[in-house]
Amino acid sequence: MADDMATSNGKPGAAEGSAGAQEVAERGRGATPVSEREARQVAEAARETEWSKPSFVRQLFLGKLRLDLIHPPPEPDPEEQRRAAAFMAEARAFLDATVDPEEIDRTGKLPDEVIDGLRRLGAMGMKIPREYGGLGFSQTSYNRAIALFSTYSPAIGVLLSAHQSIGVPQPLKMFGTEAQKKKYLPRLAAGAISAFALTEPDVGSDPARLSATADPTEDGEAYILNGEKLWCTNGPIAEIMVVMARTPAPKPGGRRGITAFIVESSWPGVEVVHRCEFMGLNGIENGVIRFTNVRVPKENVLWGEGKGLKLALITLNTGRLTIPATCAAAGKWCLEVARQWSNEREQWGAPIGKHEAVADMLADIAASTFAMDAIAELSAALADAGKSDIRLEAAIAKMFNSEAAWRTVDLTVQIRGGRGYETARSLAARGEKAIPVERVMRDLRINMIFEGSSEIMRLFIAREAVDPHLSRAGAFVDTEAPLGERLKGLAGLTAHIAGWVPPLYVGWGRWPKYAEFGPLATHLRFTDRAARKLARTLFWAMARFGPRLEKKQAVLFRLVDIGAELFAIAAVCVHAHKKLTENPAERGPIELADLFCRGARRRVRRLFADVFKNHDDYKYRVAQNVLKGKHVWLEAGDASPRTARPAGRSEAALAPAPAGDA
Ligand SMILES: Cc1cc2nc3c(=O)[nH]c(=O)nc-3n(C[C@H](O)[C@H](O)[C@H](O)COP(=O)(O)OP(=O)(O)OC[C@H]3O[C@@H](n4cnc5c(N)ncnc54)[C@H](O)[C@@H]3O)c2cc1C
Repeated sequence: MADDMATSNGKPGAAEGSAGAQEVAERGRGATPVSEREARQVAEAARETEWSKPSFVRQLFLGKLRLDLIHPPPEPDPEEQRRAAAFMAEARAFLDATVDPEEIDRTGKLPDEVIDGLRRLGAMGMKIPREYGGLGFSQTSYNRAIALFSTYSPAIGVLLSAHQSIGVPQPLKMFGTEAQKKKYLPRLAAGAISAFALTEPDVGSDPARLSATADPTEDGEAYILNGEKLWCTNGPIAEIMVVMARTPAPKPGGRRGITAFIVESSWPGVEVVHRCEFMGLNGIENGVIRFTNVRVPKENVLWGEGKGLKLALITLNTGRLTIPATCAAAGKWCLEVARQWSNEREQWGAPIGKHEAVADMLADIAASTFAMDAIAELSAALADAGKSDIRLEAAIAKMFNSEAAWRTVDLTVQIRGGRGYETARSLAARGEKAIPVERVMRDLRINMIFEGSSEIMRLFIAREAVDPHLSRAGAFVDTEAPLGERLKGLAGLTAHIAGWVPPLYVGWGRWPKYAEFGPLATHLRFTDRAARKLARTLFWAMARFGPRLEKKQAVLFRLVDIGAELFAIAAVCVHAHKKLTENPAERGPIELADLFCRGARRRVRRLFADVFKNHDDYKYRVAQNVLKGKHVWLEAGDASPRTARPAGRSEAALAPAPAGDA
C-alpha cells in the first residue's frame, strides 16, 4: 500500500512513508504523561453543562418516563422528503451502474469515477444548506442516504460521513462566521472533500494528551501549526480539514487550550506520511497527516481560541447519528440473508430455520433490526425537530446500534455456517451466490470504536446521568476539597435527595396507563416502573460508593445499559405505534416490537440483579494480577500466538511478522 501513498499537496511525503510512520509511532510512545485528574479536568472543561432543552433519556435517569417528548415522533417536512426521495432514486441508479463493492474491498481503493459521480449527484453537500449550494437535507434524509451508500459500499458511506457528519461542513455550519461559511461551504458542497483531525498517536479517547500546537505569529495575523494526526479519515485526499491544536494559555502559567482550525491541505507544510489499512472498510482513505510550520490565517479559527474540544464534542453529538442508521441498514441486510438461507438450506431433514436454535437466532436478528431501525429513526427525527437536547439519545443510539449490529452479523455468520466465513469472491468462484457476510462483519466492527468507543459512550452517559445529583452535591464529591466545603456540599445533596427520592417510591405505572399502545402498553408500564427503579438504584449506588462511584465502571455501565434498554423499549413501542397508525392492516411491527421488548425486559431484570451482587472487585483484582504479569505462565506454550514477542526480538521487529515466522 506504500505505493498508493500520496501527499495531498503534491509533495513527496509518500516516499518517506514507512520511515515517517515509524517516527510517528516513536513520538507517540514518548509523549508527556497526563494524570487522571488532568485528563478529567480537560474533559470536564469541554463538557456542555447547559440543558436548555428537555431530554427524554435524561428524564429516564431521573425516574420519569416522559413519553410526550418522543410520542408521537416529530413529522418530517414533506417538501424536503420529496426532494430526498428523488435524490435517493438517482443515487440508487448511480450505485447500481458504477459501484462494485467486492472490487473496492479487494483493491482498497474507491475509483475516481465513483468519487466524481458522488460529486455530480450533489452527495458532498447533502447536509450543507441550500443557500450555500448544498442539498439542505434533514438529519433523517441524510441518514437514509448514508445508509443507502453504505449498503452498497461502506467506504462510500464513510467518505461522505467523515466529510459532512464530522468534517468541515458540520462544525462550520454550527460555529463558523458568515465569512467562513461563504468562503468554504459552497466549495465543500461542490465536492472539495473534508476531514476531521483530532486523534494523535497518543490521543485516542483522552484529548488531554493532545500535542499538536498552533502558536500565533509575531504580527498576530496567523498561527503556526505543528503536529501529527493519526487515522484521519479522508485525510489523504481531503482539500480542507478541521484540525485541533493547542493554542497559548489565556493566562501565564495556565493550561494551553485546544482550538479548532480550518486548514487547507494545499498549504505548504501539510503532508500525508502514511495511508492506514484496516480489518475492514477497505477503500477508505485514512492516514497520518503531518503539519510542519503550516501558516494558518487567524480568520480560520473556528468559534474561538480554546473552544476546539467543546466544538468537537458538540459536532459529534449529531455527527454520530449516522452510525446508528448504517447499523440499522446492515441489520436489514442481515435479516434478508438469514431469512433466505434459513429457508433454503436443509439439514437433518428440515430447513435449518425450523430447528429451534436457528429459529432463535433468526428471531433475534429480526427483533434487533426492528429496534435499531426504531432508535435510528427516532433519534434523527428528534434532531430534526430541534425541540430536544439529543446528546444522550445520540450516544445511546450509537452505542446500542453498533453493538446490536455486531451481534446481528455474528448470528448471520452462524446461520450461514461455513458460507458465512467464506469470502464472496470464493463463493462466486465455485458457483454460489456471492453473499459477503464475511466482509460485512469486518466492516461493522469499527463502529464500536470510532466516533466515541462503547466504553467512552457509557462513561459519557453515566456522567450525564449522575450530573443532576452531582451538581447539587457540589464539593461533597470532590475528595480534594476542604472538609468544610465538602460538608456544605453534603447539606445541598441531602436537601436535593429529600425532594427527589420519595416520589421514586410512589407513582402509577400500571393499567390503564399507555392503553393506546394496545398489546405494547405492558412494556411501557414496565418502563415507567423500571425508570423509577433505575433512579432509586442510582441513588443507592451514590450512597453506597460516594465519590468512588466514578471508578465503579462495571456498576455504572450496568445502570447505563438499563437506561439504554428502556430507551430502546420506548423507541420500539413508539415506532410500532406509528407504523400501525400508517397501515392498520400490517401487524408485523407489533409482533417484532413485542418480541424485542420481552427480551429487553429480561435483560433489564438481570442487570438490576447484578448491580450490587456481582464479583466485580474480584475480577478487577485478577485483571491487575494479569497486568502485573502474574499469569504470564498461561501465555507460554508450543503454539504461542504469532504476535507474542519471540525471545530476543524487539517490539519494533514484531510488525509485521516475517512470512513463515510462526
Ligand atoms: C478506521 C478509523 C477511522 C478513524 N477516523 C478518525 C477521524 O476521521 N478523525 C479522528 O480524529 N479520529 C479518527 N479515528 C480515531 C478514533 O476516533 C479512535 O480510534 C477512538 O477515539 C479510540 O481511540 P484509540 O483507538 O486510541 O483507543 P484508546 O483511547 O487508546 O482506548 C483503547 C481502549 O480503552 C478503552 N478506554 C479508554 N479510556 C477508557 C476509560 N477511561 N475507561 C474505560 N475504557 C477506556 C477504549 O474504549 C478502548 O476500548 C479513526 C479510527 C479508525 C480506526
